[in-house]
Amino acid sequence: MSIAWPAANAYADAMRLVVNNCVVPGRSGTVSIVCDDGTISEVAPAGAVASIRGDVVIDAEGRFVSPPFVDAHFHLDSVLTRVPNRSGTLREGIDNWAHYKRSKLTVEDVYQRANRYCEHAFARGIQAIRSHVDVCDQRLLGVEALLQIRADWKDRIDIQLVAFPQDGFFDGPETRSLLIRALDMGVDVVGGIPHNERTGALGHRSIVELMEIADERDLLVDMHCDESDDPGSRHVEILTDETYKRNMGERVTASHITSTAMMDRYYLNRKLIPLMARTGIHVIANPLINVHLGGHFHHPAPRAMAPIKELLAAGITVACGQDCNEDPWYPLGDADMFEVAKMGAHVGHMMGLAQLDEMYRTITYYPARIMRLDGYGLDPGARASFVIFDAPTLLDAMRTSAERLVIVRDGTVAIDRRLNSTTDG
Ligand SMILES: [Zn+2]
Repeated sequence: MSIAWPAANAYADAMRLVVNNCVVPGRSGTVSIVCDDGTISEVAPAGAVASIRGDVVIDAEGRFVSPPFVDAHFHLDSVLTRVPNRSGTLREGIDNWAHYKRSKLTVEDVYQRANRYCEHAFARGIQAIRSHVDVCDQRLLGVEALLQIRADWKDRIDIQLVAFPQDGFFDGPETRSLLIRALDMGVDVVGGIPHNERTGALGHRSIVELMEIADERDLLVDMHCDESDDPGSRHVEILTDETYKRNMGERVTASHITSTAMMDRYYLNRKLIPLMARTGIHVIANPLINVHLGGHFHHPAPRAMAPIKELLAAGITVACGQDCNEDPWYPLGDADMFEVAKMGAHVGHMMGLAQLDEMYRTITYYPARIMRLDGYGLDPGARASFVIFDAPTLLDAMRTSAERLVIVRDGTVAIDRRLNSTTDG
């Protein structure tokens, strides 16, 4: 199975790309971005760069240019299944997915859905995805399909796969060996789901054993953790302590931790968050999914999302992920990371201008840090991968979920919707 590049790529052979009149994050005025052999070689004030014969030159005309979106929490194996979820709960989603796995899942099915989604995601400005892949399947069909997707898309999207025991690490006697087999096959990251184990004690044990596996293999960790409205779901405390004891800070991520929205504020702010900050553990919130799946059984309904404002203020790296797109948990989704950041801003009370800038970073720079992407950003030396939005500022791009006009990957223009670019000489 192989993937064709987007139609008629007129720029594929160009060595040097100059993009003039760019508005970029963190700098005033417009700049030119010069790319040589797939790397940003220079970022200079407007007018300071002269194009030379053979350059591909793009005039961004004062538009906002950003490094690509990074979606650090997604599920490519269940994407686009469009399985209905009548109750709108996490539980029904897990049950419906288990039924789908047993009755419909094939390698081809996963591959085709994931491939279709990646085409759309790339066109929407996403160039890195951390996808969980369910390993609670004797055949590991999802793993096989997504390893192929990772290989086939490596020139356009950096895909990191997480071995995810969806039904629980202790759900079946073979889950441990299936997870190990998935890692042996090349899955990158160790996952977990302690709140879905039968008891809190088993959840605790699953964290210890999974951290041991990751530590031995020198792998990153990203667990679905405390995705629950139960304030007593405190597995993140155990995950943080294991991270501390093993000195694995910055390699470990707690995804979701929605129970923190229900916790006693004294425990949360005086104990848990300082402990997490000291350890260096990362957090990924999934605003669209968290507010949709959480809070069903409480009145008044809580804002069932991790307190991203407090976490960021404590110096913790926080990303916002999309999690789901037309799958057993969520019928909507459009690979729009601005939509994710905006929901996070609404739910997290992050609507000040500086806070919106932070929210933008939760879908770009911060998840890039969590995924340990090399050469991310727009500084000289970074990979020449970026997106030109049809908007004059970051605020306008976010406000309107602006069109992604030009998409550049490693110095090559992969998509150009402007049709008025020129080649000098
Ligand atoms: Zn998830």
